[in-house]
This record gives sequence, C-alpha cells and structure tokens, in this order.
Amino acid sequence: MDAALKGHPYVKSGLDIACWDILGQVAGLPVCTLLGGRYGEGITLYRAISQAEPDAMAESVAGYRGQGYRRFQLKVGGAPEVDIARIRAVAALLEPGEVLVADANTGWLMHEAARVVRGVGDVDVYIEQPCLGYQECLSIRRRTDHPFVLDESVDGLDMLLRGHADGAMDVVNLKLSKLGGLTKTRQVRDLCVTLGVAMTLEDSWGGDIATAAIAHLAHSTPEELRFTATDFNSYVTVSTAEGAPRRVDGRMAASTAPGLGITPRMDVLGAPKVDLS
Ligand SMILES: [Mg+2]
Repeated sequence: MDAALKGHPYVKSGLDIACWDILGQVAGLPVCTLLGGRYGEGITLYRAISQAEPDAMAESVAGYRGQGYRRFQLKVGGAPEVDIARIRAVAALLEPGEVLVADANTGWLMHEAARVVRGVGDVDVYIEQPCLGYQECLSIRRRTDHPFVLDESVDGLDMLLRGHADGAMDVVNLKLSKLGGLTKTRQVRDLCVTLGVAMTLEDSWGGDIATAAIAHLAHSTPEELRFTATDFNSYVTVSTAEGAPRRVDGRMAASTAPGLGITPRMDVLGAPKVDLS
C-alpha cells in the first residue's frame, strides 16, 4: 500500500487488519497466533476518564473500579492548576495495585507541563504526551522523574528508535491506525519487546472490530511488556460484529477462532463503500 500511496495510515489500517483476518481464516489460525503467540490468560485493560471537574473525575474512577478496571487514564491537558487538582483528587482514592496515568494528549505548552509535573512531584502518576512536539516532550521528560509515556510523537519505527536512543520514554502507546495497521504495529511492537519498552496497545477509537484487532495484538505480546490495552467496544453503544472480545473484571482475551474471530454485522455497517475484488 505504501508503494501505491504515501501516508494515510488511518485509511490503510482497516485494509491491513482485514488482510490479517483473511489470512487467519485461510490458515485456520487466530490472528494472535500469526502475530507471535498467545501470552497469558487475558489482557489487563485501562479506562480513560474524560476531562471534567476534579471531583467528577474522582467519582468516575470509583464507578469504573466497580466494573473491574484497575488502571485509569485521566484526560488532562487543560489549565495547569486544575490538572494538578484532577490528578491529586484521583490519586488520593487509588487502592494498592492500581495505576494512574495523566494523559495530556499534547495539550500543554512547555511552561504549563513544567508546572504540572512539579505540582504533582510527590504523586505516583505516569505522565503521557504532555506537549505537541517530540522535543518539547523530551524537555519535560528531562525535568521530571515521573514514569513517562509517549503516544502521538511515536508514529512509526523511526520515532521509536529516536525516542529510545534519547531515553525519551518508559512506555509507548501504539495505536493501530496511527501506525497503519497490524503489520506495522507488530514490527514496532517486536522492537519494543527487544528494547524492553513497555506498551499500551490500542487504537485511536473503535468498536467491536477494532477491539478484536487490539485483543489479538495485545494477547500476542509478552505480558511483562504489556502495560495496558483498551476495550473500545465498551465505550460505544453500537455493536458492529459478533464474536468480539467482551470485558470481564477489567480484562479481555483474543478469540481462539480463526482470523479475528468475528463476524461483521453488515446490517449495521451498511453497504460496502469500496469494492477491491
Ligand atoms: Mg494518549
């Protein structure tokens, strides 16, 4: 696909995932087996907590804990003093074994990020993608001892290697559509395993089909390198496929059926937009 069209990983991702599904169906093997195996019984999930007032975010965490989640990703990237209050309000509620990530989604300027990391210096929290640019994130990384996650900055193999050489992150967030599908994400994932960089394995968003692809990628990743993953199909209200993974007590598992192990609901998806036959 790259030889025919440069860029556009978001468009290519769906096509690439469909090819892995077809390969698995023809071979009679689940996609996770094709991607490297099946590590452990299940995949630990995180829950994203939408940006709101500090007390409301703390309340959300308590609710999602009731659904079995033990890892929480706070959406921050707003006013520094409010973000500090958000992180502190949630951190105060955490129970042993729970993990907290503050994800700014590129939302802070450097001076704002600097204030936040200093303001939560005594809190056990991961800081994810504080600023838009890689150099800005690296600058903040060098001013804090918080464990550090890069997401938007790592959009391919080049940036992973650069980030690793600079010591720019402890964890990297790999999203299927950001990288262009399972083929490219597997390549980056395998290199992370070799380099000892832990990963969040997920997508930018999605429903049953994206969640199935995430489950196969995550389940084929050694457990010690699997920081967390996402069950996007429990964030949406429409089911687009039968057989997709379902969250049980904060975890999910890849299907053991051939391919992705799902049957798309064509009545929900509607008529195909493109015919590649
Ligand atoms: Mg992120």
